[in-house]
Amino acid sequence: MTRDPAHQAFLVLNAGSSSLKAALYGASGEDPLVSGQAERIGPEGALKLKTAAGEILPLPEGADLSSHAGAFAAVIASLRAAYPDLRLAAIGHRVVHGGADYTAPVRLDAQVMADLEKLSPFAPLHQPHNLAGVRLAMEAFPEAPQVACFDTAFHRGQPFVNDTFAIPHRYYEKGVRRYGFHGLSYEYVTGELARLAPHLMAGRVVVAHLGNGASMCAIYRGRSVASSMGFSALDGLPMGTRCGQVDPGVLLYMLDQEKLDTAQIRQILYNESGLLGLSGGLSNDMRTLEAADNEQAHRAIDYFVFRTQRELGAMAAVMGGIDALVFCGGIGENSRMIRRRICERLGWMGVEIDHGLNAKNATVISSEFARTTAMIVPTKEELVIARAARAVAGVSEG
Ligand code: AMP
Repeated sequence: MTRDPAHQAFLVLNAGSSSLKAALYGASGEDPLVSGQAERIGPEGALKLKTAAGEILPLPEGADLSSHAGAFAAVIASLRAAYPDLRLAAIGHRVVHGGADYTAPVRLDAQVMADLEKLSPFAPLHQPHNLAGVRLAMEAFPEAPQVACFDTAFHRGQPFVNDTFAIPHRYYEKGVRRYGFHGLSYEYVTGELARLAPHLMAGRVVVAHLGNGASMCAIYRGRSVASSMGFSALDGLPMGTRCGQVDPGVLLYMLDQEKLDTAQIRQILYNESGLLGLSGGLSNDMRTLEAADNEQAHRAIDYFVFRTQRELGAMAAVMGGIDALVFCGGIGENSRMIRRRICERLGWMGVEIDHGLNAKNATVISSEFARTTAMIVPTKEELVIARAARAVAGVSEG
């Protein structure tokens, strides 16, 4: 067991409806000292925290994973057992929704919490749980600064035409807007791209975050100008179990003809659609679908590839062309086959991958003569939060 004293540590929390993800960072460095999560919080709750060296931290004695409060206490007890000198200099929280006004990480206080609570109706499956996690951390560590980092912030400032729907304008005024999500991932990737290839970052970039959740973002000179996710994290690309773009008439059909209620429709759209729905219930996991190689799996993969290509065309059109296509997320970073299939019909936009480089998951996977650079940049959303927590605590990363 590594027993480096964590004198000045930064805790990153992402509290969900039945899970609490946690990562502990030191005052510098890109990778967490410990990361993991409490999952299935309730009677069957489990906690798994792993050190950077791959050691699993033992479950603390008397751990109670039946509630979020118990899970939070167990995470802290486990970290304290591994790092007896643990001192949290700041805590960073992933908060899904920052609404129209929060465009950057913010230090949490009673006023900010009240503002963020008002946004819960916009993200009822996530926001209340995120904020409950904040409250637990505030109670346990009243002295530590707490900072919220938003999935929406990176996209604020998009032009009106990508921020709205063509429904009566009063809904826009009420906050029914295209917020876009996965902003922490896009922020990290944008920063990496600025470091690795500043000339590309100065141009027109499309980042495809393809994981269990999937979205795409058009980034012009470092700023988000369009995103595939909209008001909720359902829109745009098909995902593991989420539907992606769907004609709202389908929802009316479910309501009027099938007499489903909103809870049933929510369950279908969030949990039974996407790759899982398309494959007739076979799997929401791309690895399983790739391995299955049968009709159901082909159906799901074909649709995923098709919609990704289609959205990519839209993103390129928004910027009048594209200089770089960047893949990230579990599928984007690891699936050679999906990247190859997405790129194989994109020659018209200058995308041409080198199959050898693609097979190696190299950073640059485009062929030497391609007009558009294709890259893989593994995303680190939690690091973005850790950096915000370090900044709030006044720690310079040099
Ligand atoms: P994420 O939500 O970013 O962790 O991504 C999860 C998705 O990435 C799941 O659909 C996984 O099946 C997929 N994935 C991870 N590794 C691979 C791989 N080697 N090949 C294909 N898909 C993968």
